[in-house]
Amino acid sequence: MSDLDKDPYVAAFPETLPFWAAAANGVFMLPRCKGCAKVHWHPRAFCPFCHDTDLEWITASGRGKVYSYSIVRHPKSPYVLAYVEIEEGLLLMSNIVDCDFEAVHVDMPVQVQMRATPEGRHAPVFGPVR
Ligand SMILES: [Zn+2]
Repeated sequence: MSDLDKDPYVAAFPETLPFWAAAANGVFMLPRCKGCAKVHWHPRAFCPFCHDTDLEWITASGRGKVYSYSIVRHPKSPYVLAYVEIEEGLLLMSNIVDCDFEAVHVDMPVQVQMRATPEGRHAPVFGPVR
């Protein structure tokens, strides 16, 4: 469990704290602008569409589909880098996990998982819908 209060990234971008705190509990939150009602990614201090700073947090569905991907064939730890189109209409760069990488395909339905990062935070990755 990370100590978000001492995390240098969170200290530099305190507006992201609600995201990381929810992620640590396995919950995928997205910021939504109260001005234009659009959801955006990544979390930031203002809406990238209308620049309003009045934002709120919503719980994402966690569902999406693979938009594009690449299998990175690292000899020790291969992984799948992908853009996932989530139900909220956003593209996220993430990883596809918990499956045979050769089975990954465009439009593959996926479900979010919040995974620990080497920095001690939790971030969204996606696995196949079971
Ligand atoms: Zn907006």
